[in-house]
Amino acid sequence: MTEAAGPRVYPARKRVVHSNPARDLAADLNPQQAAAATHGDGPLLIIAGAGTGKTRTLVYRVAHLLDCGVRPERILLLTFTRRASQEMLSRAERLVGSTSRKVHGGTFHATAHRLLRRYGLAAGLAKDFTIMDQGDSADLMRLSRSQLGYATRSKRFPKKETLQYVYSRHINTGITIEDIVRDEYAQFVDYLEDFGKVFADYTDRKQQRNLVDYDDLLLFWALMLEASPELAAKISGMYDHLLVDEYQDTNVLQARILRGMCRTHANITVVGDDAQSIYSFRGANFRNILGFPKQFAGATIVTLEQNYRSTPQILEVTNTMISRATERFTKNLWTERAGGETPWLVAAQDEHQQTRFVVDRILELHEESIPLSEIAVLFRAGYMSADLEIELTNRKIPFEKWGGLKFLEAAHVKDVLAFLRILENPRDEVSWYRILLLLPGIGDATARSAIEAMASAAWESAAFGRYQPPPRARAAHTALVALLDGLRDDPNADQAKVTADIARVRTLYDSILRERYDRAEPRLSDLDQLQTIAAGYPDRAAFLSALALEPPQATQDLAGASRDDDDCLILSTAHSAKGKEWDAVFVIWAVDGWFPSARCLDNDEDTDEERRLMYVAMTRARNYLSVTYPLNAYSTRRGANYSIDQLSRFIDRGVRDRMERVALGSEQAVRPVEAPAVSPLLDLRALLRGKFG
Ligand code: ATP
Ligand code: MG
Repeated sequence: MTEAAGPRVYPARKRVVHSNPARDLAADLNPQQAAAATHGDGPLLIIAGAGTGKTRTLVYRVAHLLDCGVRPERILLLTFTRRASQEMLSRAERLVGSTSRKVHGGTFHATAHRLLRRYGLAAGLAKDFTIMDQGDSADLMRLSRSQLGYATRSKRFPKKETLQYVYSRHINTGITIEDIVRDEYAQFVDYLEDFGKVFADYTDRKQQRNLVDYDDLLLFWALMLEASPELAAKISGMYDHLLVDEYQDTNVLQARILRGMCRTHANITVVGDDAQSIYSFRGANFRNILGFPKQFAGATIVTLEQNYRSTPQILEVTNTMISRATERFTKNLWTERAGGETPWLVAAQDEHQQTRFVVDRILELHEESIPLSEIAVLFRAGYMSADLEIELTNRKIPFEKWGGLKFLEAAHVKDVLAFLRILENPRDEVSWYRILLLLPGIGDATARSAIEAMASAAWESAAFGRYQPPPRARAAHTALVALLDGLRDDPNADQAKVTADIARVRTLYDSILRERYDRAEPRLSDLDQLQTIAAGYPDRAAFLSALALEPPQATQDLAGASRDDDDCLILSTAHSAKGKEWDAVFVIWAVDGWFPSARCLDNDEDTDEERRLMYVAMTRARNYLSVTYPLNAYSTRRGANYSIDQLSRFIDRGVRDRMERVALGSEQAVRPVEAPAVSPLLDLRALLRGKFG
């Protein structure tokens, strides 16, 4: 029976903002972590070792702020990769629901890009600027270098990569060019003035061509905050809370940005571990994190020493290893976990035996029901996994590789992107030059004169069509003009536009590729992949910016498909493994000259950084850790200094004593050997084996 219809009155819904009954903070966090997560306003620094829950605390802090009624879009979460911020925000979502999706998360560079797109015009940047990656910047440096006549000097002038490095270091660290050159490139001190000239020309070129490099992204963000009160008010006014993970890998320019963002409030939380600072080549300095309390007066400092990640045996090894660092703030870690296996130190006869050991052991662990995705193999540099990749492929074990990925650096991919870039920005000289040199009949002189002709016509889009090429370049010129006209006029501006653009470019380019490069097939399939990725972007500009800013980290990112249901092993450089954890970790090539890299043994600072990198690698392990080293390597792949392989200097006696020594015999049985009662100073047998391997 229905009641007489009348107006219904709904009582006002109560808004619960301060507590979330579904969550018991005290159960999920220890008291120090909970204090940090629920910290009120004002600067907060969490400085603590690996696996102590820094990232977890940051996730809970985001959830706490949302609980307290802070609007999600007023929170900025800065992380080292886009993947990291996505992961953190989806964890926050499990705690507080979908509002966390509106939190602004990403890298410093991506955030800078977003702000420049929005405020760039007001800051004097022309619109539709193109972002250059590091390779592009070096290419533009080369143009400046040769335009100024340095390419033909009899005395060696710095290479484009050196110029780009010095420039970038100067911008990111604020160290003067003079000091950088004196410290790191003493052989070029005579050229000090010339560095300045090249950089001035490079800066002009960027402006004329409407290009923005990586360093500009950060620098412009900092300058907008420092040089214009109006812009500073607008930009810093966008956020009420800033949170930064992996703060040990930020540089002074990023610290300047954070200071600028905190003009009206000091709600900034940063977390990091000085012992894991591994990006000094990008201008990061582990001492920055120690300087935080000076930069943000009244900062609360939280330290954490309980490790939740690893077994006590793994902690013993990693604590011992990092205790050798010359300078370190964070303390040794302890755990409540009990039980566990002693980490293995495995000597293999050669690379192939190392590979077979790793694969066999992975399969063993997999048999013990550890999913492949919970196992990682880590190494110092991308090329070190080549043999392993072949073996995994042969044995049909699926894997994904992180870091050291050369897809976007591959010449053929850059070639295709160059076409899209000149459409997007007709003044992109670097891309023009690249394309012109690809074409039959066009050499350096013709390319330059074509570019000059376009420049003097103010890069107007029809200028290239009017250019009169020498006879042997005519056919190529006509073909390119036709292609560009077709692309410009392309009326189907639908979702698949970028993919269609690439397909069109390939009607000209694929045959060039076959002519110019060997092994055409895998390269062509790279381009197929590029087309697939492009389908995910609404337009050319978005696609190009995304590729420059967030270069795909893994092959799987490239395919665009999610491999969630595929269980696959992770291969990663130590750098790209930062912040992650796995049940089982293998660190391969623990050989002096490889890890530490031979290039980093000249001075103590670099060696210390390599040690921190080894620490990052080993502290990724929850339950199983194996460090392996081949006793012989083929000399073609090594520096001449290293004829016999020596175990990495970081696995010194104290560290070795805490590991289970495993020697793989010629029959490749995996068997622990009894450690000698006294650890030897020298392993004579290993040295001898190495001689005749
Ligand atoms: P890294 O320095 O390597 O980045 P981290 O300090 O950020 O490490 P997390 O990754 O946040 O550490 O945490 C390491 C592991 O310990 C994670 O699996 C996390 O869930 C777990 N953990 C952290 N704190 C706690 C806790 N209080 N209770 C249970 N598990 C915890
Ligand atoms: Mg972390």
